[in-house]
Amino acid sequence: MFNTTSIRADFPILQRKVNGKPLVYLDNAATSQKPQVVIDAIVEYYSNYNANIHRGVHALSQEATDKYEEARQKIQQHFNITKAHEVIFTSGTTHAINMVANGFASLLRKGDEVIVSALEHHSNIVPWQMLCEKTGAKLLVIPMTQEGTLDMKAYAEMLSDKTKLVFVNHISNALGTINPIETIISKAHQVDAAVLIDGAQACSHIKPDLQALNVDFYVTSAHKMCGPTGVGMLYGKEEWLKKLPPYQGGGEMIAEVTFEKTTYADLPHKFEAGTPNICGGIAFGVAIDYLNHIGFKAIEAHEHELLTYATKELLKIPGTRIYGTGKEKTSVISFNLENIHSYDVGTILDKLGIAVRTGHHCAQPIMNYFNIPGTVRASFAFYNTKEEVDVLISGIKKAKQMLS
Ligand SMILES: *Cc1c(COP(=O)(O)O)cnc(C)c1O
Repeated sequence: MFNTTSIRADFPILQRKVNGKPLVYLDNAATSQKPQVVIDAIVEYYSNYNANIHRGVHALSQEATDKYEEARQKIQQHFNITKAHEVIFTSGTTHAINMVANGFASLLRKGDEVIVSALEHHSNIVPWQMLCEKTGAKLLVIPMTQEGTLDMKAYAEMLSDKTKLVFVNHISNALGTINPIETIISKAHQVDAAVLIDGAQACSHIKPDLQALNVDFYVTSAHKMCGPTGVGMLYGKEEWLKKLPPYQGGGEMIAEVTFEKTTYADLPHKFEAGTPNICGGIAFGVAIDYLNHIGFKAIEAHEHELLTYATKELLKIPGTRIYGTGKEKTSVISFNLENIHSYDVGTILDKLGIAVRTGHHCAQPIMNYFNIPGTVRASFAFYNTKEEVDVLISGIKKAKQMLS
């Protein structure tokens, strides 16, 4: 039995009030809240064993290094990654995508093609546009449908021996659509193209098996999976990480430095120049343990129930339109009330203590497709409840009354 009462007790922030009302936090697609164990891990690091890692002979440095490398192993196991050195710590998804895009600048030429999807977050669009400007490669876009899913027939027709790289998100942050990444990956591999999957929106909902997916790169952020901000993961197959040049020069990423020539360190250090977010990496590991302790099967089932219930109740309100109606969907509802601006709805919900996101959700091409400036987005996590859905629905009814 899924016990939201005891789960909610793990999250101190969920006990607080906003504008005099109990907080109803439904902005989980932007960032998740943090359980006490993660907060404790951060305090514990700075209180007890703060030290720089990898270089020190002293006890604190050893302790910090061990915990940091343990976190890397936890991430490796969680995602079923073959080798721990294929896990590169980054500052987040955006950083990880930029690292790969930057690396491919030396591998692409004019006439090569790279493929993105119409459902992407800006951070999985802009770095590739910059790459194409630098190299003369051409950016093709997999079109989307009215349901907010990808047109897979068009994708199949786009692939050719010119295709070098495909980058698509696992789950759309704006609509909640789960993309058929197994097919996307296997089809790209048929033409020897590499694939990067942006998993920022997926990893709080599902547990991807990266060996089974046979994906070349997979990136995610800790802060959307109950971990802290400022830390994330770049997974790359060893062969690719060896091929790509380092992203930043500095300490930790070298084997030997002279003014004539520098040789780079082995993986993962080649991509980890400078002092990293040590405490963030350690807390990322703790967050992964926490999520596994709850269990992804239970998380998926509970979130699916919330999604189904909220969708049903929302559609009872006349004039509501939901964007993103594909069959494969996670617990994100993007919607508008007829003739009412999303920002106004969000403002009224905030007065009632309900946190939702409004606007374009860093995915303007999707909004352009639907010819709207933005949506109201309610995104649910495993610690949300049916009672909170009821509060949301009555808040929306109130907003509608006040605004129409
Ligand atoms: C949140 C998000 C990003 C950006 O992640 P950052 O943590 O801000 O770097 C990229 N893609 C998707 C699908 C996201 O949901």
